[in-house]
Order: sequence, then C-alpha cells, then structure tokens
Amino acid sequence: MEASSLENLHLSQSLPLSQDSFQELWQSVITPSISTIPSVGQMDMLLDPAFDGNFFDMAMETPAYTSSSSTVPVTTDHAGEFGFQLRFQKSGTAKSVTSTYSEVLNKLYCQLAKTNPIEMLVSREPPQGAVLRATAVYKKTEHVADVVRRCPHHQNEDTVEHRCHLIRVEGNQRAQYFEDVHTKRHSVTVPYEHPQLGSEMTTILLTFMCNSSCMGGMNRRPILTILTLETPEGLVLGRRCFEVRVCACPGRDRKTEEENHAKSQNGTKQLKKRKSTPAPDTTSAKKTKSASSAEDEDRETFTLVVRGRERYETLKKINSGLELLDKETKTKPKVVKQEAPQPSSGKRHLHRGERSDSD
Ligand SMILES: [Zn+2]
Repeated sequence: MEASSLENLHLSQSLPLSQDSFQELWQSVITPSISTIPSVGQMDMLLDPAFDGNFFDMAMETPAYTSSSSTVPVTTDHAGEFGFQLRFQKSGTAKSVTSTYSEVLNKLYCQLAKTNPIEMLVSREPPQGAVLRATAVYKKTEHVADVVRRCPHHQNEDTVEHRCHLIRVEGNQRAQYFEDVHTKRHSVTVPYEHPQLGSEMTTILLTFMCNSSCMGGMNRRPILTILTLETPEGLVLGRRCFEVRVCACPGRDRKTEEENHAKSQNGTKQLKKRKSTPAPDTTSAKKTKSASSAEDEDRETFTLVVRGRERYETLKKINSGLELLDKETKTKPKVVKQEAPQPSSGKRHLHRGERSDSD
C-alpha cells in the first residue's frame, strides 16, 4: 500500500528538482488534488455519499488522489491484495454478435454504442467506498501521449455533458465522468458494489461511443481499456487491462485476428523446430520469419469508404491491378539472383585459400 501510494505520487506529479525548496515541493504536491476536486464536485459527485465528507481534508491527507493523472497510464495487470479480476461473457464469433472477447488476444471486439457486460471478481471485500474506474489509452507508444476522445462527428451528434468521452457506463446512476485537470485524460467511475446474493461477481456495463476507425478520433489506432479498483481517495488497489476494437463486425474481426495470431504462432513454432535441428542456418531461418509475418500483414483486409462512383471504380481498378500483379509474382518462379562472377583475381585468391586449408 505504502509503495503503491508512492508510485502513484511519483507518476502523477512531475516533482520539481531538488534545488527547489520544500515549500515549493509541498505546494506542487497538494495543488493538483485540491484543484481536481471542485471540478469533480461539479459533476454530481455530491450525490455520492462517499464524497459527502470534507473535500479539503481528504485532499490534504491523500495527495495521490489524482492517480489517474500520470502522463503515461500504467497498463500492467495487477490483481493486488483484493485479487481483482475480470471475466467476459463467452459470446463466440457469430455474425450477429455485438460484443465478443478473445481470451487468446485479451481483446474485446464490440459495436459502437452496444453494451459490453464485464464481470469483476475480488477475492475479498475492498474497503468501504471503493470505486471502479475505466480509462482508455492508445496502445502504441507513438500515440500513448494522446488523449483518447470521441471524434468530432460523434461528439456533435450528442447532447449529454460527457459527450466527448469514449467510454460510458450504462445502467448506473452513480457513474461519474472525469477529465483530469493536468493530463486531460477521460475516465468514468462507479462505486464498487458487492456481488448480489448468490453471485460471486459484480457486472459493469461499458459502451464505446466511437468506432476504432473514426476519423479525427481513434483513427484506426488500437486502444487499451484500463479498469482499476481504487480507494475513494484514488489509490489503486488492482488493475486490469484489455485491448478494445470498436467495429461493425466484432465476430468476424475476432475470428480473423485469432486466425492470424494462430498462424503467426505456428510460424514461430516451425522456426524453433528448424533452429533446433543440427547445423541450423540462422540466416535462412530469419528470412523465413520475416517473410511469413509480412505475408500475414498482406492478408489483413481493410474496408475503404469512397465517395462517388467514379472514384470508387478508379480505385477498384487500381486494386484489381495490384491483385493481378500479386498473383503473377506468386505463380512465377522466383528469379534467384546469381552471384556476380568473381573477378579473376578474387577467384585466384579463393582457390589459393582452399588449397592451403586442405594442405
Ligand atoms: Zn466517432
């Protein structure tokens, strides 16, 4: 607990360098918490009995309140002392499915604005007033600094106050939407509820309000959803992460990506086998690997929305041309470039070397 509080503190604040005075340091530590809470209060947080207490006191005691404000959110799973775990419903990959989870890829595939029931388990009761927080973050390092938000188109269509938030919690009046004052990252929290009688877990209903492909929003950049179990003061007790793809055909996309994953796994296995055989040729093994992964990438399919029939026909022609070219290059035997003939002087040198070896 002590360590995690320190960790949070460290991540959430960019602490001044040591030449600053203690007073400056202290101010920089407590300021974020105080400035966060009023903005929190604006968003009907006062309805939550857990927050009826003295805001100021709470902020003073727990400077780590803005745990979600670390510039790069932590995305490692951490069951913690309460054994925090997630469970997804088994929905399969049928065409009609609106939400489906891949265990193999730890990835949720869902349709825009459709409900994703996510079950949460704990091994023992979390402290009174514990909350669950959902945050979205870009998966790739080059995008991780960007805040995940809805695209302008979907934002404009909506009228609710939290319309810029990608992740929503459904069916819970106590859901609260936050924008971190420092990082501008969005999150939504609900109070942790005990499992109902006869059940071992509680269910949270998440919806994603943009497609992964939304221009000006996620723009095809993969995202992770982080679910944290937190104390009322924002100390992280447990964390679970999973990838999310919001798309038109969750079942189809899950199937395709799982198949591609299995193929790439098989490729790796074959590679290992080859490597373990006597006298392995490491250069050819490496070549095989990169070739197969490139092939997998080639097999990935994309849908392009084109405005205007004429342009569509043109692009179709280009694509057909490229397909034809692919076919031709695949059927034709690969022309292996012969090594350029050695210059006579080199040849002589080689022969001499060989002879001296055999001697
Ligand atoms: Zn959108």
